[in-house]
Order: sequence, then C-alpha cells, then structure tokens
Amino acid sequence: MKYDVIVIGAGMAGLTAAIYLKRAGKTVVVLESDVAGGQIISALTVDNWPGEPGISGADLMKKISNQAEELGITIRYEETLDITKSGNGFIVTTDEGELSSRAIVVATGTEPRKLSKKQAEDAGERPISYCATCDGALYKDKAVVVVGSGNTAKHEIKYLEGICSKVYHIHHDDPIPEDAEAVFVAIGRVPATEIVADLVKLDSEGYIESGEDCVTSCPGIFAAGDCRTKAVRQLVTAAGDGAAVSKAVLEYLDK
Ligand SMILES: Cc1cc2nc3c(=O)[nH]c(=O)nc-3n(C[C@H](O)[C@H](O)[C@H](O)COP(=O)(O)OP(=O)(O)OC[C@H]3O[C@@H](n4cnc5c(N)ncnc54)[C@H](O)[C@@H]3O)c2cc1C
Repeated sequence: MKYDVIVIGAGMAGLTAAIYLKRAGKTVVVLESDVAGGQIISALTVDNWPGEPGISGADLMKKISNQAEELGITIRYEETLDITKSGNGFIVTTDEGELSSRAIVVATGTEPRKLSKKQAEDAGERPISYCATCDGALYKDKAVVVVGSGNTAKHEIKYLEGICSKVYHIHHDDPIPEDAEAVFVAIGRVPATEIVADLVKLDSEGYIESGEDCVTSCPGIFAAGDCRTKAVRQLVTAAGDGAAVSKAVLEYLDK
C-alpha cells in the first residue's frame, strides 16, 4: 500500500501532524523507533501544557497517542533507517521492511548527546543512562556518576542523591570514577536528523532548515517539531508545528 503520508516520530509533533492529516481524510502511518510519546515521557511533571498543569509527560502523551489510535492511525514500532526518492514519492526503509508514500513528515526530535570517545572507553561495560528518573531506582544505595554541567545535570544529581549512596559529578572529558556503577549523561541534546542528511538542507548544528510552514529544501519532505530550525523547542511549539505541517502537506498533495 502506498500511503499519502508517512510521519517519522511519535512525539508531540508527529502525533499532532498525524491527527490533523487523518482528520483531513489522508492515509497516514506513524513510525516510531522507541515508545510513543517522545522525549517528554521522562518528565515527571509538565506545568506549561495549557489545561493540564502538573500532568506527567507519560500521561499526557498516552492521552495523545490514544487519541491518534482511536482515529484509526496506526503507529508502527519500526526504526526508520533510510529514505529514497521514487517516482512521485518516497520509499522508507525501516528495520522491518519498506513502506512508500507521496509525502514524508520528519518529526524525529532530538536525542541525548553521547559521551566523548575517551569517556565512553572509560565507562567500559558499565551501564549508560540518559534519564535519572527512568533508571535511577536501579542503582539504589550504589555509587553513580553524572556527566554534565548544565541545569539538566544539576536536576539529575539532585534526583539521584535521594536514591544512591554516592553521586559523583564530573564534566565532559573528566575521567570516570572507578567505583561508579552507572554513568548518567546530561550533556545536552542533538537533532535526530541523520536519516535526511543527504536529502534536505541542515543548519550547522544539524537541525533541518525550515520556516514556520515546515517546508524543507526537498519537495515532499516536511519537518515538524524540535528537529527543525526554530527559536523555541517546547511541547506547544511542537504541537503547533503538527498543525502547520499538515497544511503544507495537504497543499503539496493537492498539486
Ligand atoms: C527532561 C525534559 C523535560 C522537558 N520538559 C518540558 C516541559 O515541561 N514543557 C515543555 O513544553 N517542553 C518540555 N520539554 C521539551 C519537549 O519535550 C520537546 O520540545 C517536545 O517533546 C518535542 O517534541 P517532538 O515531537 O518534536 O520530538 P520528540 O519528543 O523528541 O519525539 C521524536 C520521536 O521520534 C522518534 N524517532 C527519532 N528518530 C527516529 C527514527 N529514525 N525512526 C523512528 N522514530 C524516530 C523518537 O523515538 C521520538 O519518539 C522537555 C524535554 C525534556 C528532555
């Protein structure tokens, strides 16, 4: 089957785009490499999503993915590996096979920046986590280390201090203490745009170049949410992109 639209990423931007496109009568499938919901699911509380102060990120995104599925949108748990142009559309290769569509919405967000080569070697076989609230409980009464110097690192340290016997705090490229049993990494996020790097223009940091219309340099490929160039990366702007990108996609499909 050839879909009208393949949406890559089931975070706020991708799910909102899929809801708008499905309601406009288009055939749409969402591809997700991890769990539906995106990066916000690790947030214990979200206080700035209008109408739901204090909701957890996981609960908020569960409501939205349920809404999508109730509309008949399929979320396929497959990692997108490659996109190629084919006739008047695209072929998307995933770790499960191939799908085709006329248009693509890239809503892949951002992913945690990885440790430097030196620190990764230092960590060896020790577990590496990017989320203290997700994994901290696994290291109750054990020594752990947090790598990073920003606000996220401070937040992770505070959280882990309530659980672990010792929390080391080191910076990018410092040696990893030998007795730390797990490494928590909090050194920022980078755009998850490698799959389209050969197809669309990226800025110097790797974000997809696009304005508020979510149009990219490649006709038929659109970008929504945190993966594109923008001033504010938040849930409401990701949801706003979901609406904006659907307008651009509908205009493209009508041509
Ligand atoms: C800890 C934390 C707390 C935050 N708190 C707030 C807050 O309180 N309020 C607020 O407004 N914002 C907050 N944010 C920011 C907010 O989460 C993001 O702006 C928003 O989630 C971006 O949504 P998105 O859909 O663009 O991307 P994401 O949420 O990153 O979703 C992208 C999805 O694409 C998937 N994906 C990536 N690559 C592929 C691939 N190759 N194949 C298939 N799927 C793929 C990912 O697995 C992911 O599910 C927070 C972020 C973090 C990390």
